[in-house]
Amino acid sequence: MANIDLAERSVVLVTLDSCRYDVAASAHTPNLVKLGPLLKAESPGTYTLPAHAALFNGFLPRPVSGPLTLGENSVESIWRSAVARPSNRHAAVPFDGPTLMAHYSGKGYRVVGAGGVTFFDSSDPANGLPRLFPEFHYFGRASRAPATPEARVAERGKDLPLAHTRTLADLCLKAARFFLFVNCSSTHIPYTTPFSPLTERNRGLLRRLYQLHDFQQDASDDDLLTAEDIGVLLDMQRRALEWADTRLGDLFSRLSTRRPLVVVCADHGEEFGEGSRFGHAHPHPTVATVPLWCGVLGGG
Ligand SMILES: [Zn+2]
Repeated sequence: MANIDLAERSVVLVTLDSCRYDVAASAHTPNLVKLGPLLKAESPGTYTLPAHAALFNGFLPRPVSGPLTLGENSVESIWRSAVARPSNRHAAVPFDGPTLMAHYSGKGYRVVGAGGVTFFDSSDPANGLPRLFPEFHYFGRASRAPATPEARVAERGKDLPLAHTRTLADLCLKAARFFLFVNCSSTHIPYTTPFSPLTERNRGLLRRLYQLHDFQQDASDDDLLTAEDIGVLLDMQRRALEWADTRLGDLFSRLSTRRPLVVVCADHGEEFGEGSRFGHAHPHPTVATVPLWCGVLGGG
């Protein structure tokens, strides 16, 4: 890592939507740990929109343990916007543009985004996040599709962005340098992936979990989940993360010759009743505490 200039590298930035820190700590993620150790971090946002608005301005979830280690280098932060408040903290990549995407576009990088949760449906004019990218690919359900639990509890495959790693890598490799962002929806409710398919039992549990997300203040006793039920659902998120890890392994192997800087984190976590609520978009340690990995593919 000596002599590395992080500011000149290609970048892969991945958000594992809604992935809890404790779920990440319990999962088998051999490809993610190649980047570096799993770090416990605190997100600046409780749901997708504010968390990504901060992220796209360079504000990563902040590790609770202090500076980041990238190979042999220790950095206090990776990106630092010129509008951030004055600080003596060392940033590896200070930048002056309004977003990371504008910064890297201005340097001649190919900037590509991909998403899977509805805030990234680029066909919906109400969505601002995908419009921050010169090129965005959306694979998830339509943002204005029926939102009943019956419609949302579904098997997922090609509608998961990480099912398309070959396409995304090929787009990046056409350019000398690239900035690739992927919002990974596999870890977002309903947690269904090829590793975590629907069963009769988890279909019913997911319907009740959607009810608890949607009507937190007046859930009936029939909607409530037992500790065992919650264990089944958290295990689905763990398997969904393990599926994402295998797909990220494929993406990393395709891009490793470019030796990009890679950052993988959750945008926020998810509460499963620990503070009497379910879901996210409210402050609770299970929502604020997220996993973070970072490193350089292929060594320095
Ligand atoms: Zn999210």
